[in-house]
Amino acid sequence: MTETIRLALAGNPNAGKTTMFNAITGARQHVGNYPGITVEKKEGQASVNGTRFQVIDLPGTYSLTAYTQEEIVARNVLVDERPDVVVSVLNASAIERNLYLAVQILEMGIPVVLALNMMDEARRHGMTIDSARLSELLGLPVLETVARTGEGVETLLRRTAEFSRQRGGRWEQLVISYGPDLDHALGEMTALIEAEGFLAERYPARWLALKYLEGDEEIVANGRAAGELSARLEAMAADVADHCQKTLKTYPEAIIADYRYGFITSLLKQGVLTRSTDHQRIDFSDQLDRVLTHRFLGPLGMFGVLLAVYKLTFSLGEIPMGWMEALFAWMADTVSATLPDGLLKSLLVSGVIDGVGGVLSFVPLILLIFLFISFLEDSGYMARIAYMLDRVFRIFGLHGCSVMPFIVSGGIAGGCAVPGVMAARTLRSRREKLATLLTAPFMTCGAKLPVFILLIGVFFPRHQAPALFLITLAGWASALVVARILRSTVIKGPSTPFVMELPPYRFPTVRGMMIHTWERTWQYIKKAGTVILAISVLLWTMMTFPGLPDDEAARFDAASAEVAAQLAEATPGSSAEMVLAGQRDRIEGQRAEAALRTSFAGRIGTALEGVSSLAGFDWRTNIALVGGVAAKEVIVSTLGTAYSLGSGDSASASLAERLAMSPEWSPLRATALMLFILLYAPCFVTLVAIRGEAGSWKWALFSLAFNTAFAFAVSVAVYQGGRLVGLG
Ligand code: GDP
Ligand code: MG
Repeated sequence: MTETIRLALAGNPNAGKTTMFNAITGARQHVGNYPGITVEKKEGQASVNGTRFQVIDLPGTYSLTAYTQEEIVARNVLVDERPDVVVSVLNASAIERNLYLAVQILEMGIPVVLALNMMDEARRHGMTIDSARLSELLGLPVLETVARTGEGVETLLRRTAEFSRQRGGRWEQLVISYGPDLDHALGEMTALIEAEGFLAERYPARWLALKYLEGDEEIVANGRAAGELSARLEAMAADVADHCQKTLKTYPEAIIADYRYGFITSLLKQGVLTRSTDHQRIDFSDQLDRVLTHRFLGPLGMFGVLLAVYKLTFSLGEIPMGWMEALFAWMADTVSATLPDGLLKSLLVSGVIDGVGGVLSFVPLILLIFLFISFLEDSGYMARIAYMLDRVFRIFGLHGCSVMPFIVSGGIAGGCAVPGVMAARTLRSRREKLATLLTAPFMTCGAKLPVFILLIGVFFPRHQAPALFLITLAGWASALVVARILRSTVIKGPSTPFVMELPPYRFPTVRGMMIHTWERTWQYIKKAGTVILAISVLLWTMMTFPGLPDDEAARFDAASAEVAAQLAEATPGSSAEMVLAGQRDRIEGQRAEAALRTSFAGRIGTALEGVSSLAGFDWRTNIALVGGVAAKEVIVSTLGTAYSLGSGDSASASLAERLAMSPEWSPLRATALMLFILLYAPCFVTLVAIRGEAGSWKWALFSLAFNTAFAFAVSVAVYQGGRLVGLG
């Protein structure tokens, strides 16, 4: 039987972990998610010299605190799955900062091997690292690698296997001194924990004590569930915190971080790290950053890049999206032509093919947006964007990384909230991510545009461009204000410290980008594809059943049969034929309207009229809005059907005319409606995406209810306010 070593890769984001993972496992890997959250879980296999490795790629983190989902996942995998050995992948060119995480893993006690990755860059920066010395000081193997070329990876695996065998799974905690105050408390707390065997099956005693001192929410919650000792430990930690506040005016957490860095600095000073004093060499990244994060040029360049990503995504995506749509249109036509009229055909065409097609036609967009995001992330520019915007977005309880989701969702009119919401994946803090997920759908997505263009064209014909611009602006203003409100109420909590470092600029590898892009796209296809199918069938049911009462259906049948008979006798091309054809279309339109009114959706629309009239919406508008939850594109076509009493022209033209002539409609009513459409419930595909990113239906349902309530409040305020001042 061959031996299998369970190996976990840990490291800071951008240290080259994934590249290392790919170099180790090749194609033998599997990507999934940790249960309930969108943190990626990657596993793979490798074998060297008859030793088999089961490799797990931990999420990239800077620390093992509880600030982000990634950090919690990383440390839970370590304590719960107890891998045989951890390979800590360090970016050698930023060794001080990268050791911060490694040291915390060493403090847990799990066997660690250090991989000094990116040695090529470290050398180029004029750094010399004595890995043998470092290995001696820490008592563990330290190996130099260049994951990108595979250099040193095999040796790393061989030494890791030896070390793992030698340690035999034994955990040995690294003990760092945290100064007199903390050390004393740590000692007492550790003794108490050990005496009771408190949570001993999961956490090493001193590490647990340290987490109580740091005030780690997750660990303390686990402790409370585990027993009474928790209260005592919390009280001790509070005492220490008090004392630190009085004497040093700081928190234990900050002291701990200081001492850890102190430990690392002194480690490196003992002959491990020497820097060449050759200051002639000006670092390429620093030089680039002088322009790219310049106070004025930086933001300018950033908007240029964002605009370019946006334009490229939608202009390049349009073509394959057209193919997908054509493919599904062809499928719909084929099914229509083969099957007899009836429920089955309607279900297949309107429910299944339109629904699934609607989801799959987004795939080209998603693929492109992730390709660009991968490029921005891997090259290091994304970190600069976040850095530049962080201070502004922070005011609203968001994060620098929120800007991409906003822009993609339609921050520049015409985007789409589905890839937008998925772009929120780059946000590491859960609260900031939620705030972004919930507000990104306020932007002017491409599906809302047709309604806006229609209504603006009818009611503000002389100010079309400014009107659309104002709407887009209203989307931004609402997103920021609502984010602020949410972050002060339902998702209240401190903003995460800006722990992101600015990695050096690098040219991304094609392989890395492909892997990133495909993984994310495939997850979308899998998840959205299954849920959407169910939901679109449900919506189809609501707009189809219970169907016209028999007597009414018979009346339409008779009328339409009569016209059909006359049509058959009319001379082809004659004016009589055209009149009859118009009549036939009118009858079908009326039948559709009547059927809609009696459908479940229609009844909902009628029932809502009492409330919705406050904002000026009638039952027809309500149906369109209910349908719009399926997909915002549906609003125009449903309004068209609901108002289809017209002349047999194309639906939207006659709709525009009807709205213009209707005495009930006014610019004020149109404005209230546009604001409502801008802000109300995200469409279903977006809701599914929100569910995916937020990890539970709870937040998807929240955004359905909250956004609708918020939109309604805004529309009512505008409509009633406008009427008060005599606008409509
Ligand atoms: P992760 O965030 O830790 O998973 O980092 P990635 O594996 O995605 O790597 C980040 C970037 O560093 C990518 O552009 C890699 O191609 C690059 N990279 C990884 N390892 C090395 C290395 O040893 N040397 C150099 N020069 N670049 C590397
Ligand atoms: Mg990675």
